[in-house]
Amino acid sequence: MPGKKKKAKKAKKTTKTTKTTKTTKIPVRSKSARKKAPPKKPARRLAADLRAHRGGVSPRMNAPAILGARTRKMKGKPSPGKFPKFGYHGGPVIPSAQVHTSFWGALWSDAAHQARAQRLNQFHRDLLASGFMNVLSQYGAGRGAGNAGTFVGDSFISNAQTTLTDPLIQSTIQSAINQGVLPEPAAPSNIALIIYLDENSGVNDPSDQLVLCEPQNDNAFGYHNFFTTTAGHKFYYAVIPALTDTCLQESCGQDAGCSLHLAQSQEQRQTQVASHEFAEMVTDPELNGWLDPQAGENGDICNGESATIAVGANAWTVQRTYSKTDDMATGGQSYCLATAPAPIPPLKPGP
Ligand SMILES: [Zn+2]
Repeated sequence: MPGKKKKAKKAKKTTKTTKTTKTTKIPVRSKSARKKAPPKKPARRLAADLRAHRGGVSPRMNAPAILGARTRKMKGKPSPGKFPKFGYHGGPVIPSAQVHTSFWGALWSDAAHQARAQRLNQFHRDLLASGFMNVLSQYGAGRGAGNAGTFVGDSFISNAQTTLTDPLIQSTIQSAINQGVLPEPAAPSNIALIIYLDENSGVNDPSDQLVLCEPQNDNAFGYHNFFTTTAGHKFYYAVIPALTDTCLQESCGQDAGCSLHLAQSQEQRQTQVASHEFAEMVTDPELNGWLDPQAGENGDICNGESATIAVGANAWTVQRTYSKTDDMATGGQSYCLATAPAPIPPLKPGP
């Protein structure tokens, strides 16, 4: 762990902002400042099962990133599909997502990383235009391909801390809003921020069961969450770490049964996780929208089931997402979809 930190610091010192991008340095609380502050408890503690549903991509196939939780076992009684408890819990969804990407860490400034960042931006444009959004329309998250939101733009925060906690991520976002680097959400909130970390960065927040791409104890490949800005708006964000081979090996031990694979490119791993998180963010941005209290959110039920979508000349790796409509229609035989040919009509009850 110290090795990693040292490396990160070194990179920070030697890296300059490039002319090709708007790399931004924003004031972030230093570690020492954080230590002096009284221990901060989140304003609202979610129930244990819901807390863990902050959208973690589990390293295990078809599982929520919850320690100790398992996909719900069905009892003998006939039910409409395999996940009858997946339903709407009254919270908001994002009907027209304003998608922003934000690339954190000093390594994003070199040419190879810049190229990957641009590819990831294109992925988010294409995802919004794809049949993937036709699956999410049943939850009220847009009206299908091309009618579910817009990719707005990117930002680069080169001096974000390399060992992040969830509160630190939120304070970094708030600082970026204060600097005009990220927008203040409107009301109702519709910003979906996708944060991509560089290879020197990870999340180490064991108290929140979030350890991502750290040297030890990794338990998730990504997550989404939200907080209330100082101006009083909800801010929705997802975090996708670099997902290197080392990260996969540390998280899974072996490739078999892992929800990401060593044979995949780093980009494929990142788009797979990003699609999982995006499907959850727009249908369950405040962790009280569409979910199954045991099995998790729509991304979790199909965790690790990768597929390829084609958009124009581009092909992208995504993760299939849960379609309750298909689950009910097939009696639980088929419910994980990467795309649908037309927008699936909204379920009732729903938002
Ligand atoms: Zn998830």
